[in-house]
Amino acid sequence: MPPQRGKTPRKNKNGSGSQTEPVEVYCRIRPLDNPDDPVCLKAVNTNTCILTPQENAIARNGQVKELQYQFQYVFDEYTSQKAVYDYVAMPLMEDLIKGKNGLLFTYGITSSGKTYTMTGTPDDQGLMPRCLDVLFNSISGLQAKKYVFKPDRMNGFEIQTDADAMMERQRREILPGLTTPKTPGRGRNHGEFGEHGRMSDPTRVEDIDEGNIYAVFVSYIEIYNNYVYDLLEELPHDPITGYKPPQSKILRTDSNDNMYVMNCVEVEIKSPQEAFEVLYKGQKRRKVAHTALNAESSRSHSIFNIRLVQAPLDANTDMIAQVQDQEKNICVSQLSLVDLAGSERTNRTKNTGERMKEAGNINQSLMVLRNCLELLRENQKTGLGKLVPYRDSKLTHLFKNYFDGDGKVRMVVCVNPKAIEYDETIHVMKFAEMTQEVLVTKSQQVKFEILEAPMIKKPPVIEDYIPMMTYSLGPTFPSLEVLHCRDEYTLDQLSDFLDERNRLKENLMIDFNRKQDQFRAQLVKIEKEYNEMKSRSHESQSVLEKRESYIQKLESRLRSLEKRQDETSRQFKECERERRELESKLQDKNMKIRQEKTEKDRLRSDFRNRLEHNNQQWEKNLQKERNKIENELEGQINEKQHKLNMLRHIVNTETDSDTPTARFRTPAPKARTYTTPGKIMSARSETDMSSVGKNPVPTPRSRTQTATVTSARSMHGLNKVGTPKNTPQYNPRHRRSRSSNAEIWLDHRPPGSVELVFRGHDCTVLQPKLKKKKSVSKLEVKDTKEATKYILTHQDIDSAGELETKLIKGNMLPTAGGGTAVVFNDVETLKQISPGSRKRRSSCPQPTDYDGDWTDVEDRCGIAIEGHSRKRSRGTEKVSRV
Ligand code: ADP
Ligand code: MG
Repeated sequence: MPPQRGKTPRKNKNGSGSQTEPVEVYCRIRPLDNPDDPVCLKAVNTNTCILTPQENAIARNGQVKELQYQFQYVFDEYTSQKAVYDYVAMPLMEDLIKGKNGLLFTYGITSSGKTYTMTGTPDDQGLMPRCLDVLFNSISGLQAKKYVFKPDRMNGFEIQTDADAMMERQRREILPGLTTPKTPGRGRNHGEFGEHGRMSDPTRVEDIDEGNIYAVFVSYIEIYNNYVYDLLEELPHDPITGYKPPQSKILRTDSNDNMYVMNCVEVEIKSPQEAFEVLYKGQKRRKVAHTALNAESSRSHSIFNIRLVQAPLDANTDMIAQVQDQEKNICVSQLSLVDLAGSERTNRTKNTGERMKEAGNINQSLMVLRNCLELLRENQKTGLGKLVPYRDSKLTHLFKNYFDGDGKVRMVVCVNPKAIEYDETIHVMKFAEMTQEVLVTKSQQVKFEILEAPMIKKPPVIEDYIPMMTYSLGPTFPSLEVLHCRDEYTLDQLSDFLDERNRLKENLMIDFNRKQDQFRAQLVKIEKEYNEMKSRSHESQSVLEKRESYIQKLESRLRSLEKRQDETSRQFKECERERRELESKLQDKNMKIRQEKTEKDRLRSDFRNRLEHNNQQWEKNLQKERNKIENELEGQINEKQHKLNMLRHIVNTETDSDTPTARFRTPAPKARTYTTPGKIMSARSETDMSSVGKNPVPTPRSRTQTATVTSARSMHGLNKVGTPKNTPQYNPRHRRSRSSNAEIWLDHRPPGSVELVFRGHDCTVLQPKLKKKKSVSKLEVKDTKEATKYILTHQDIDSAGELETKLIKGNMLPTAGGGTAVVFNDVETLKQISPGSRKRRSSCPQPTDYDGDWTDVEDRCGIAIEGHSRKRSRGTEKVSRV
């Protein structure tokens, strides 16, 4: 529980520029109970002692092997308690008053004089009572009023105003259960340190700062079985068994990282007597607790803490000087006096069960102390920062700051020189030797920062409420000497004087009663204020407790939140990393999309350009084609017009030169080629074919009766003649089935033809015999599809005025374009003449619609059908007759 709030920073680490000093170890040899007992340890000088092995050990080795140990000082069995105090504890007391911390502990086996050294006896006091004596001797006249310094329950102190301190004094007197022991009166029991026979130490520390005021606080704790108990705490009372076992305390770290026992009772004492009262009370409780716990005092560590609180006084006001930071205004130093448990090993205790456990624990915590010091020494030697296991035991954990921070550490090794204790003593010596190699940091002198002007207004004190009472006793007594027996004057004067006095007395009584009432009223008021303050203080105390538990909750919550925060930050980092990865992926994808889009746009524009180009090309081609077709058609029309004109001319000429009927003669058929867009029409007359001389036409056989049949055959020489460029492409060798059954005739009889008579005596004998035929009056494209032969019935009036019927025959050949070409190859002429009479008479009626200009056979029979299937409908529509 070392450093306190308001103190110079304590967390100086060894080797960081601060001065260090070794742990000072002293050796004290106690006198033998029986002077004749053999000894194993002897002091040879003030610093050295020799450990001699037991007799049996000598016998075993054959030679005496003495071990020599050096100490800061070796106190032999004749050294007085005073001398030990002066050497060991006095410097610690001086440090304490200078605001430095100190730890003093006694180490040794049971019955080696530890308690004697630490506490002593009333007539020969040990270190602790002497420390208290010297402390109070030193600060006498410089002590602060009680309760001006108040523990804040968190190992620190606060300053109260004088008024608050006074209130607290009154409260503690009213509630004695809470108060510290009153200054012991005569005859009070102070245990072994009763005032009777106690020899107080008159020593005092000379070098004391008289500009400060001081207050002393003590606490008394015990560590047993690695549990911490407060020896000054009221034990819980059990109505049946008496006292209940005490509750153990926990260790905590204060705001300066110092260890302290939480909720440990700290008592402010104003004199050594009060301290002894506390000590006695603690020891008494310790005994009770040990009974309750079935424990033994030699198995426990007892720690008596003296805390000195000091603050600078303002010279003008006699009040505590003010500084900016109130914490810096208070210096708290501490001296811990530790009476350790016996260091003997477990097997030596000869205990079983619970006791075994206790002994084990005691040794365990001393073992941890030993380990800690060894590691500390090793770290200091090697510079390695190995972890010192302070937390392994409550003892080392509590004093961690002395070894880790700063403060003087001193140890008195108590030795019982009895030879039979040799085995234990050698361990004690080794530990002591090792301990003095450990370095601790020196404390710094405390300096206060005092402000120029005082800031606290002196609060009113009780005296201020009591009016000054000045009483006039009136005139002095008159002479009481009676001169003679009739001296009435003197008696009268005396009577007057007494009357006057009585009056005065009555007035005074009235005044007194009035003032008494006033005082009472003020007292009641003060009482009321006090009660209010008391309840307020109770409230604040409960608030404080609540706050403390709340702080604990918050601390644990903070820890869990910190854990969660770590986890969250780890997750956050993970998420951040994933986010970055996804972002980079997204960027890649976006880039790809952009690239693809650009590519698409490029392709689209390219396609558009090509499409446009193609369209233009197509349009151009179409235009060209159209122009070509138009030209061709125009040429055809012109040619036809020309032919028509020629025909007209011929007809007209013939008519003019021969007979009037000559104009009906069919003009000599000529090979003709007709071209329409997508179709070719072709016709050839027999005349042309014979004139060509190729494929001589078979001689037409004579028809019986009067029928004259002329036939013409052509076609084969068509190519020889030369096909016009736009002649429909067909295969002239196209073969249809030869069977007559397969021949289908397309019998084309244009409307207006004179019907031939086939019945009666006038009937026509020579008649075309067509097995399968289809008669049409007007050519349709569909009709040409099935037929293989074509026959056109053409009627005309011959020169004799007789009706001449010509049957013009041809083959129907499919063209390359899917149309049909008719190749004329035969003409049969039928005439009917009456015998014996030259007068020709046509039995056939005249065509009713004959207009005299209708002579163009070829025009009527020339057809071609466009063959392209995709243009069939269009082509079919375009079937034309010329
Ligand atoms: P510890 O506390 O180590 O178990 P104690 O201090 O109780 O031992 O001492 C055991 C006994 O020895 C006590 O009776 C004590 O009075 C006595 N004793 C110890 N040291 C000395 C000493 N230096 N001078 C006189 N008597 C002593
Ligand atoms: Mg003891």
